[in-house]
Amino acid sequence: MTQMRHARRLDELPPYLFDELDKAKQRLIGRGVKVVDLAVGDPDLPTPSRIVERMREAVADASNHRYPGYKGKSSLRQAIALWFRRRYGVELDPDAEILVLIGSKEGIGHLPFALVDPGDKVLVPDPGYPVYANTSMIAGAEVRCFGLREENGFLPRIEELDSLGRAKLIFLNYPNNPTGAVADKDFFAKVVGLAVSTGSTICNDAAYGEITFDGFRSPSILASEGAMDCAIEIHSFSKTFNMTGWRIGFAAGNRDILKALARVKMNLDSSVFGAIQDAALAALSLSYDENLRAYERRRKLAFERLSKLGCHFFYPKGTFYVWAKAPLGLTSAEFAVRLLEKANVSVAPGSGFGNNGEGWFRIALTRPEAEIVEGLDRMAGLNLWTN
Ligand code: PLP
Repeated sequence: MTQMRHARRLDELPPYLFDELDKAKQRLIGRGVKVVDLAVGDPDLPTPSRIVERMREAVADASNHRYPGYKGKSSLRQAIALWFRRRYGVELDPDAEILVLIGSKEGIGHLPFALVDPGDKVLVPDPGYPVYANTSMIAGAEVRCFGLREENGFLPRIEELDSLGRAKLIFLNYPNNPTGAVADKDFFAKVVGLAVSTGSTICNDAAYGEITFDGFRSPSILASEGAMDCAIEIHSFSKTFNMTGWRIGFAAGNRDILKALARVKMNLDSSVFGAIQDAALAALSLSYDENLRAYERRRKLAFERLSKLGCHFFYPKGTFYVWAKAPLGLTSAEFAVRLLEKANVSVAPGSGFGNNGEGWFRIALTRPEAEIVEGLDRMAGLNLWTN
């Protein structure tokens, strides 16, 4: 009899649709085919040179060659507190209300292990970043999805959240991947009100908090009354400063939640290399307007082409994604496969983000303008939309 060499729980994880498509994409690239990759949300623009220069100096600093301290360097946590006050008007205690993370994904993934016991309920958005549901499931939680629908601006209905019963943890993600939707202060105030009344904990993933357009500035959930009693917010340097490879982010908010998360982390990792933390501190005083302008130009090109094609898309006020409808008669996966095989363009199929993503696909505007144009022109060449 062959022995199972993994936990049974892993078999409950949904098949990773993106993995299959990625393998197909790699096979094409291996055969020398030029694939236009609009699937992955990984900024193509380089990290600003000021950050890279600070890193160079910091690498040579011998104090960075030792363990950096579990919560992250106090210099960085203090700088984050100042940035948070300037940006959101929220006062944070750098010692207890800020925790440095090895990228936001690390904090999101470990949070269920800090908060839920087997069988506890965790609510996650559908469509949504798969890490919320998958790591909650690995931690033994009962995962329940709440729907994000276009008619509600891809915000959950508070009554639906309420009807799912008392949850230990509710994941939110605004600005939202994959839809590009944003939330305003009123929405955050309502969800915090719900969490206070039910005793739930909220985690708002604000990895795209600084990537917003048309004059919209994303608020912090922590500015809502009562939020510091029941919520944390996760931030990242990855998207704001084109630092996905560096692996650094932070969690801010309720001290008990952060204490629990720090206890889990203390047993798993020893925080981020000190030099990366010094470089991140330097990033906090930089403007990221130039980045936003690049995305604005790309958005314009994408919107024009999708509209001309007769392809319906949700107008995104945040993130560098466009959430668009697949042609009638094709599932998300069928469309993504056909697009990859016939036009060598890769997009993320909506169903990979949950059941409500079926019939949609996601374009990432993290490629140069010429490639976005080429990808969308190749898509148009398939004549799949009738307009
Ligand atoms: N949260 C969301 C919604 C994301 O889309 C991503 C990455 O794509 C992350 C978190 C992880 O970002 P990082 O770990 O690089 O901070």
